[in-house]
Amino acid sequence: MATIGVLGLQGAFREHIQSIEACGHDAVLIKKVEQLEAVNGLVLPGGESTTMRRLIDRYGFFDALVQFGQAGKPIFGTCAGLILLASQIENDDDNHLGLMDMTVARNAFGRQKQSFEAPLEIKGVADDFEAVFIRAPYVLDVHHDTEVLATYGDKIVAAKQGHYLATAFHPELTDDHRLMAYFIDMVEQSKLASV
Ligand code: GLN
Repeated sequence: MATIGVLGLQGAFREHIQSIEACGHDAVLIKKVEQLEAVNGLVLPGGESTTMRRLIDRYGFFDALVQFGQAGKPIFGTCAGLILLASQIENDDDNHLGLMDMTVARNAFGRQKQSFEAPLEIKGVADDFEAVFIRAPYVLDVHHDTEVLATYGDKIVAAKQGHYLATAFHPELTDDHRLMAYFIDMVEQSKLASV
């Protein structure tokens, strides 16, 4: 049994808690930095990345989140969470946590497609995953050993680098928990590797 935290500062955190529990694992809503010690993996939910970053700084989470990732504990960023993980953000000199080697573009699907659903093939996860995109970013480019797991048209919308996983869409908004189960598997493997 893995214990998975969901950063609970802003955004779609409740749905992630439900998804973790539906997979039969323990979920913890993380509101205080000390709570990170008790979890084996962490979800950074969708929401608004600039707001989330402001709250990360205000509540003293920044260094703790970077250390969590650097200690080899898995992190799954969805939508705004993907932006938080990225090493580079298009048209921005600053990044946020910078843990995953990729360049992302924010709000990148344009006005007419601000929100939409599309079936995706996700490597190692599913070939028919119904993905919900909400003012979504996408990955412009992956660097080093970051792997592309899914594309929508010519755009990268899911990627993995070692113990980091990121999607441009919101997997928690449907009843399909296969992507969360995939992340929990990453967490269980990292637990085994650390004993
Ligand atoms: N557009 C948002 C941002 O830039 C992300 C949208 C989402 O998480 N649904 O943070």
